[in-house]
Amino acid sequence: MTLPGRPEVGDDLSEFSLIRRFFSPPASRRDVVLGVGDDCALLRVPEGRELAVSIDTLVEGVHFLPAADPEALGHKALAVSLSDLAAMAADPAWATLALTLPQPDVTWLKPFSHGLQTLAERFGVQLVGGDTTRGPVTTITLQAHGLVPEGLGLLRSGAQLGDAIYVTGCPGDAALALAMRLGRFPTDDRWQPYLSQRLDRPEPRVAAGLALRGIATACIDVSDGLAADLGHILRASGVGGCIRIPDLPLSPALAALGEGPHAARFALAGGDDYELCFTAPPALEHVLERAFAGLDCGFARIGEVQAHRELRCLDADGREVETEQGYRHF
Ligand code: ADP
Ligand code: MG
Repeated sequence: MTLPGRPEVGDDLSEFSLIRRFFSPPASRRDVVLGVGDDCALLRVPEGRELAVSIDTLVEGVHFLPAADPEALGHKALAVSLSDLAAMAADPAWATLALTLPQPDVTWLKPFSHGLQTLAERFGVQLVGGDTTRGPVTTITLQAHGLVPEGLGLLRSGAQLGDAIYVTGCPGDAALALAMRLGRFPTDDRWQPYLSQRLDRPEPRVAAGLALRGIATACIDVSDGLAADLGHILRASGVGGCIRIPDLPLSPALAALGEGPHAARFALAGGDDYELCFTAPPALEHVLERAFAGLDCGFARIGEVQAHRELRCLDADGREVETEQGYRHF
């Protein structure tokens, strides 16, 4: 803790009162032996579980605009790390937060911690520690910790020849939302609230990740774009594959763009979606359907794992389409 420089008694934002007010959630998990307040947190990993750990940083001016809604930032900082846990089929448990701020500001800290804590509570995550420092721009580093039964973590490297390729939800929405916000694409008022939600408050596909345990052979969360992230799976697995563009599950907002290359381009190359892309034997599709019943997102079969070591994007006639990300030799 180095913020502010000189803590004073009665100062609302002395270092300890800042942590106490905004980053000391009530104990919510029995596996937290010791949470915020000491030199370390003490956490209990149950017998037979592996600890899944992922860390992500959001930097002002790089990952978000200075005017960004702090409540949404609190949500997103945790959501992107929970998305990594989801992609490994890990059950979220704990989080730590390293926060760098130009100055302590209650009007920012209060909604930020509220956005973070609301999502944490929804997923049963307890914030157990962190660090708070002064620095030139707001920088938010969040580490999430999850638990997965030994051997059941979903790696990028497990895709097998003959597997089908799937994606959850509707990829491309976040990129469309960003393009509209930056004025690079005409806005459509009908879809604005939906699209803003998709960009600013992504829903980590935790339940989907847990449902994939024992079924999927490989999994990744889509942060850089569907084609690029699927490329990571194929490369790590030493295989190739195809995506059939007409099978991409487009949201009504993306489908409203109509015919033409835009919708497919957003769905294939747009980042920040935090959907899960995974491979699984097609013979298990009925098991997948049962596992996803009652979840808040569906899944769609979009292609196949193949022996050639490329990712090919195919049109309705099975012809190969050159896309920004879609055609890569590994
Ligand atoms: P130390 O000097 O031992 O690193 P600090 O003064 O940095 O301790 O932090 C005091 C306690 O508050 C520690 O338990 C630390 O984990 C916690 N903490 C500090 N900043 C944050 C934060 N932004 N979010 C959650 N916990 C925090
Ligand atoms: Mg510290």
